[in-house]
Amino acid sequence: MITRLSHLFLRTLRDDPADAEVPSHKLLVRAGYVRRVAPGVYSWLPLGLRVLRKIENVVREEMDGIGAQEISLPALLPREPYETTKRWTEYGDSLFRLQDRKKGDYLLGPTHEELFALTVKGEYSSYKDLPVILYQIQTKYRDEERPRAGILRGREFVMKDSYSFDLDEDGLKASYNAHRDAYRRMFDRLGVRYVIVSATSGAMGGSASEEFLADSPVGEDTYVICRESGYAANVEAVVTPAPPEIPIEGQAPAQVYETPGTPTIATLVEWANSAVAEQFGRPVTAADTLKNVMVKLQHPDGKSEIVGIGIPGDREVDDKRLGAALEPAEVALLTEEDFRANPFLVKGYIGPKALADNGVRYLVDPRVVSGTAWITGADESGKHVVGLVAGRDFTPDGTIEAAEVRDGDPSPDGRGVLHAARGIEIGHIFQLGYKYTDAFEVDVLGENGKPVRLTMGSYGVGVSRMVAVLAEQMHDEKGLRWPREVAPFDVHVVIANKDEAARAGAEQVAAELDSAGLEVLLDDRTASPGVKFKDAELLGMPQVLVIGRGWADGKVELRDRFAETSEEIAADQAVQAVLAKVRG
Ligand code: ATP
Ligand code: MG
Repeated sequence: MITRLSHLFLRTLRDDPADAEVPSHKLLVRAGYVRRVAPGVYSWLPLGLRVLRKIENVVREEMDGIGAQEISLPALLPREPYETTKRWTEYGDSLFRLQDRKKGDYLLGPTHEELFALTVKGEYSSYKDLPVILYQIQTKYRDEERPRAGILRGREFVMKDSYSFDLDEDGLKASYNAHRDAYRRMFDRLGVRYVIVSATSGAMGGSASEEFLADSPVGEDTYVICRESGYAANVEAVVTPAPPEIPIEGQAPAQVYETPGTPTIATLVEWANSAVAEQFGRPVTAADTLKNVMVKLQHPDGKSEIVGIGIPGDREVDDKRLGAALEPAEVALLTEEDFRANPFLVKGYIGPKALADNGVRYLVDPRVVSGTAWITGADESGKHVVGLVAGRDFTPDGTIEAAEVRDGDPSPDGRGVLHAARGIEIGHIFQLGYKYTDAFEVDVLGENGKPVRLTMGSYGVGVSRMVAVLAEQMHDEKGLRWPREVAPFDVHVVIANKDEAARAGAEQVAAELDSAGLEVLLDDRTASPGVKFKDAELLGMPQVLVIGRGWADGKVELRDRFAETSEEIAADQAVQAVLAKVRG
């Protein structure tokens, strides 16, 4: 069936919407693909819905391809299962909670681990039933703090979420790898540019979690990439390579100095360069100083603890890395009251000694290896110590990845340097293990007659977000430029000639393209050619066939919106040429 622009439910807009900042948001609204209803809540109009459905189908085909089975769970969920896993409260303000007429508590599902675990528990009882992968493509609800960029971060959005259930660790790894491969195939088919980053440092063994990040300057996720080796990771997951240890023997003894007026690292470095430079035989830099930052941890068991974090003075603490390194404890800075309660902490002059003497755990940057000498606080107001050697004068309780990662830092794989980049999360794969199957006691009878607890993985793809991601990666100043796999139509036929014969010819060509199996959008409106060309560029179909003035001479024009080329072809070759482009 040919879709006619004279009939299509579509109004393009000349101006960008006032609330739009990123290109995909502006263009998807201007081109009439989506319309805003409330913050982070959008309607899909015909063109947008076609793109969304095509993405869904690619996702569905690749999920079916690894033997996953599609089911559909409700979005309206009772409180109890989420109470069992504590997520009813842990989700905080992001959860949409509501009550029914009997005052029963409900929520709108932000993700469905609980329900899938319960569903499998309800149906399966024998090891013979496993493994199983179930998925759904469904609307999710999260009351995002900052809904942003149209459908990029919605409060209502479409996600493909799948869940694997296996009898053992090897099974879980196999299900995880099957997802990883399926995601690569689906994202390759969709034509999106992306990297796979390890989301955790793998401290718990292997890559327990990876994220797929689409390359984009408007992305909210920062990651680092080593162009030489292809290593990519979330900033939280970057492991600092430790430099070689230095022999302690023969190093000068540590010495305490009066250092008046040195409250900052910069003033301390200035002092060192005037007072103790000859000892170093080179200019002293901030990297020679050891900055001790005090934090207070709130552990899940309710206990609280003060911890010292030592990092080279030329670097800042990265709050995200610090938080990730100390999980599941919550991190806060010390209050004035905490300082008063611990008078051995001399603000601005805290050193490793007072921490050790008072039983405060001291974690240091991995660069603080045995034999490195530091300028640091001497635990007395106005005093610093120079030449404090790790492994001789102090012994840290461990290392911590808390310092910022910078452009040019060595890659953990030793094969180049790191660069910062920005991305949009399009997929996330996660070896959950027993968290949910323990909570709901999801067991089956094992081969030996004993119960086996299942191990679980969860895997998500941002399906509606992908529409915006593709628009973000593939547009120009004139409009959208859809890759073939997801374009709402294969070809956009523009009638740019008032002549009756040309109009009839265009109808004929469109009919032939349609019967050849292509999806055809025909601009049969009475508007001027200029308006029609502008709309064709804005709407972004990959092939635009223009039936214009050349028709009388047997000529038409084929524009490739994606490759940015245009060619004049013989009218009687038009159908073949379009088919070759679309199928080629
Ligand atoms: P983000 O870090 O972007 O908030 P997330 O880590 O919370 O995402 P997951 O819980 O892993 O997301 O959800 C799986 C996928 O769903 C994500 O990879 C992303 O593509 C998509 N997604 C998550 N939140 C949203 C949202 N608010 N709007 C659109 N898509 C989303
Ligand atoms: Mg995620």
